[in-house]
Amino acid sequence: MKIKDINIFDKIIEKDLESGFPKNKLLFRFPPEPNGYLHIGHAKSIYLNFKLAEKYKASVILRFDDTNPIEEEKKFIYYIKKDIFWLGFKWNKVTYASNYFYKLYDLAKVIIEKGKAYVDDQKQYKIQEQRKNPFEDGIESPYRNRSIKENIFLFKKMKNGYFDDGDCVLRAKIDMKSPNMNLRDPIMYRIIKKKLHYRTKNKWCIYPTYDWTHGQSDYIENISHSLCSFEFENHKQLYNWYIYNINKKNSLTPRQYEFSRLNLNYNVLSKRKLQILVKQNIVNGWDDPRMPTISGLRRRGYTPESIKYFIKKIGISKRYNHIDISILEFSIRKHLNKISSRVMVVINPLLIIIENYPTSKVEWLNAENNPEDIKKTYRKIPFSRFLYIESEDFLEKNKKNFLRLSLGKEVRLKNAYILKANNISRNIDGSIKSVYCTYDKNSLSKTGLSSKRKIKSTLHWVSKIHALKIKINIFDKIFIEKIPEKYKKFIDFLNHDSLKTKMAYAETSLRTATIKEKFQFQRIGYFCLDKKSNKKTIIFNKTVSLK
Ligand code: ATP
Ligand code: MG
Repeated sequence: MKIKDINIFDKIIEKDLESGFPKNKLLFRFPPEPNGYLHIGHAKSIYLNFKLAEKYKASVILRFDDTNPIEEEKKFIYYIKKDIFWLGFKWNKVTYASNYFYKLYDLAKVIIEKGKAYVDDQKQYKIQEQRKNPFEDGIESPYRNRSIKENIFLFKKMKNGYFDDGDCVLRAKIDMKSPNMNLRDPIMYRIIKKKLHYRTKNKWCIYPTYDWTHGQSDYIENISHSLCSFEFENHKQLYNWYIYNINKKNSLTPRQYEFSRLNLNYNVLSKRKLQILVKQNIVNGWDDPRMPTISGLRRRGYTPESIKYFIKKIGISKRYNHIDISILEFSIRKHLNKISSRVMVVINPLLIIIENYPTSKVEWLNAENNPEDIKKTYRKIPFSRFLYIESEDFLEKNKKNFLRLSLGKEVRLKNAYILKANNISRNIDGSIKSVYCTYDKNSLSKTGLSSKRKIKSTLHWVSKIHALKIKINIFDKIFIEKIPEKYKKFIDFLNHDSLKTKMAYAETSLRTATIKEKFQFQRIGYFCLDKKSNKKTIIFNKTVSLK
């Protein structure tokens, strides 16, 4: 498939190359903050950066944007790397914005020395108030015109720990009347003493803000094309203002380009928001199969191929859009149809007694693993006098258009014989206890695969005495609202019934299933083994339905 989705950036890069940008200077980066696990939105950004790098034989830096000690943790570094690797991408170098704290400090002094930054002693809420709104001019801080000397002196004191959290900040001196709110004297540094940084510990008590760090790290690393999602479009002017004011090299400077953020219906795609679901125990951790995180999708049974196919399919446009979850489901179904082993599992069992089949006889029949696989492989499944079928596959009195089993009618049992229902026995409450049937012993072909007699309906089944009891998790959307992010209190729109657990009877082959394998429970859906499964309790997660 042609990678049509990176076209918008292809064009930009091609143009840059045509106008003399050296090809060997192309360099990309993926800059997550280590404050949570990656989600499917990140997969889009990763795909974009790594695919462009691949195309132009350039490198990608995995840069941890770790400038806020409050939420950042070392463990997230591990999981972020693991997920990128699992998706099939290899970064050329790992860097940390926190490694640049000294450089950033020196660059901030360059701005102060140009008379373009000042220490503001006002409280943050006051600063916020004075910013006003895009339709009203902001108010200048009374500290805005401090001398360069005083600012350098105070900034040093900030760094050396003379002040406490919230006492003062360093602000860029740009324009309090700008219609772009990001230019109304943005904060460059704040004091955070209440929590130690996971890497630099107590070495620093002033921390650079995202805007101050991001572009300058791009500059330090010589990133050529800094691609980010659209929420940063309004930050671009500031990005360029900072770069312009620090650029001593007088050479190629990084440039920011935006693409549309991935939004998925019935989901929130932001680490900060997903973290709320984790912290409030609404889900069981970052890798809960209901989460739109890469780890959650993996545990649910998604493959790297299906995620990449999904990203290709939706494309990388500049338009704001919400992608329907059905496109993601389509992508995984397409892949699972190719690679999953077909097995038989019965969820709501109804006992079948085959009266003309000897009580102690067991036949091991051939069952095809995957009809899509050109290397035809088979496994053995046990057939006996007592079987389970799904209770909804039987109706005592046949109805029009009901093609499954009913009294006096025949069906084919998948990979096995033709079965005819003759009679039923009931429980005390009148419900059906079991169905008495007969089988046609001449209806099995040599391989057990193709039928001699054609019967319209084929049912899945398991042999009762051989059946393996398994637990299955069935998931629904986490939110009942299509676009929960529309609401500040998105948490009010939770689906409180998003996880259902059932017991089921599986064919014995599933006893040796591994986490890497994918299964189609025939006529039910695609499933995979859960990481918490063990010999005593075998647990499967439903990835997606068949249609
Ligand atoms: P937070 O909520 O903490 O800001 P985040 O989910 O926005 O987290 P970041 O660490 O800020 O994640 O983002 C890292 C990179 O991934 C950025 O370049 C950002 O543009 C990109 N990114 C984040 N979310 C999406 C998304 N939904 N679609 C596409 N790219 C995204
Ligand atoms: Mg973000």
